[in-house]
Amino acid sequence: MEVVRSVAALRTALAGSGEDVGLIPTMGAFHDGHRSLFAAAREESRTVAVSLFVNPAQFGPAEDFGAYPRDEARDVSVAEAAGVDVLFVPPGAEIYPPGFDTWVDPGTLAQTLEGAVRPGHFRGVATVCLKLFHLVEPRRVYFGRKDAQQVAVIRALLRDLDLEPRITLRVMPTVRDGDGLALSSRNAYLSPTEREQALALPRALEAGLAAHHAGANPVIAARAVLDTAPGVAVDYVAVTEFDGPTLAGAVRIGQTRLIDNVRLTDEDAAVEVD
Ligand code: AMP
Repeated sequence: MEVVRSVAALRTALAGSGEDVGLIPTMGAFHDGHRSLFAAAREESRTVAVSLFVNPAQFGPAEDFGAYPRDEARDVSVAEAAGVDVLFVPPGAEIYPPGFDTWVDPGTLAQTLEGAVRPGHFRGVATVCLKLFHLVEPRRVYFGRKDAQQVAVIRALLRDLDLEPRITLRVMPTVRDGDGLALSSRNAYLSPTEREQALALPRALEAGLAAHHAGANPVIAARAVLDTAPGVAVDYVAVTEFDGPTLAGAVRIGQTRLIDNVRLTDEDAAVEVD
């Protein structure tokens, strides 16, 4: 695996890729959710490229950009073991050089849920992803359904900015811990007590799913779980159309903000536990 830090070195490393590159954009602190994306890309791409960039543009001024977990040495060994060919770890100025002043502004899709709580978040996501797509020129890009609204924003970006059909979007299922908590780099912030409290989120989604199957309102059922859960502050619970009707929730446990979702469609619906 080659670790590259500049755009020039990235282009050199990808020169022999045979135009068959799978790209996984990440912010590092790798866990099994990331590994599932790496494995999917490894299976169908000649060259697997991963970007590791904690993107300042997608964090609000009061958010956790400074505290976001960073462990490059560990990430390098995880990526290497997963068969990644090129790991792109740019310094901030390689992506946003002095004078950088052009942004991708996603539309109404990006104004609700995460976009409403985190103004500018999806503008930062869409901008960095478009740049990465141009730099890497992948045939396929891999994203996790854990971030369902992000998937919807990227799908719209590929369509609206004419990157389709050159780039295909692959969406992988949410990977969970044995107790149901969706894996997230931010889980590292949780104390043991908070980790226990955080289980209210997958339990609420499971209750919402059961209610939906029983013909009842999934939002009311999910809220009933969250509103009585100790230590949980709810940002939102809502059903939205992301690749099919999706029950999505965001909560704060102490200083940590967690998101999760479950699709309400029959084939795929479960907050699966190992
Ligand atoms: P991040 O490093 O958190 O920006 O995530 C990089 C990619 O991994 C994104 O496409 C996420 O949706 C995906 N991802 C994060 N957590 C999970 C998970 N638990 N299951 C599946 N994909 C995930």
